[in-house]
Amino acid sequence: MRNVLIVLSGPSGVGKGTIAKLLTKDDNISLSISCTTRSPRDGEVHGREYFFIKKEEFKSKIEKDGFLEYSEHFDNFYGTPKDFVLNSLKEKDVLLEIDVNGGLKVKENYSDAVLIMLLPPSREEIKNRLIKRNTESIEKINSRMERIDYELSKQSLYDYAVINDDLNVALNEIRKIIELEKNKV
Ligand code: ADP
Ligand code: 5GP
Repeated sequence: MRNVLIVLSGPSGVGKGTIAKLLTKDDNISLSISCTTRSPRDGEVHGREYFFIKKEEFKSKIEKDGFLEYSEHFDNFYGTPKDFVLNSLKEKDVLLEIDVNGGLKVKENYSDAVLIMLLPPSREEIKNRLIKRNTESIEKINSRMERIDYELSKQSLYDYAVINDDLNVALNEIRKIIELEKNKV
C-alpha cells in the first residue's frame, strides 16, 4: 500500500478542521501544519494549529522555495511547508487542510495527491456553523461567506466531493476514499 497525500478543502466553516482532527487522532495520518501570518484565535497554539509567523519571515521562506504552495486569504498568507510534507510521506499518509487554490497547486506539483472537497449541506448551515463557532466577527463571517461560491466552483477539478451533513457519515466516506487510494498501484 502506498502512502497518500490527501488534500481536504472546502468553504470556511464546512468542518475541515473537525474532520482533520478526527482523522489524525484515530487514523495513522499526519496533519501538515501550515504557516500563517494571521493572529492566533483563542485557544490556538503555535506549532499545533499553525506556525504563526510574521510577514517578513513568510516572504523569506517563499524566496527559499520553502512552500509546496502558498496563497493569500482575508489579508493574510497561508502556506504548506515543503520539507515537512515530503519527509512525513516517507513514513505515513499526510493530510493537508487547505483552500482550493492551494489544493490545485499541490496537484500541479505532486500529481499523486488526492483532492477531496468537503461540501456544506446548505449555505444557511455553513453560516450557522460559523456563528456557533464564535471565532470571527460578523463582518469576517460575511467575508468568508462571499468566498463560498468561488470555492464550490472548483469542485469539478477535485477528485472527490463529500457532503458534511452528518459528521460520522462524512468521516466514514473519507476513510473509504483513503483506503481505496492507498490500494491503487
Ligand atoms: P472549517 O475548518 O472548515 O472552517 P470547522 O471544523 O471549524 O470548519 O467547523 C465549523 C463549526 O461547525 C465548528 O463549530 C464545528 O464544531 C461545527 N461542525 C463541523 N462539522 C459539523 C457537522 N457535520 N454538523 C454540525 N456541526 C458541525
Ligand atoms: P483559517 O483562518 O480559518 O484557519 O483558514 C482560512 C483559510 O486558509 C481556510 O480556507 C484554510 O483552508 C486555508 N489554509 C490554511 N492553511 C493553508 C495553507 O497552508 N495553504 C493554503 N493555500 N490555504 C490554507
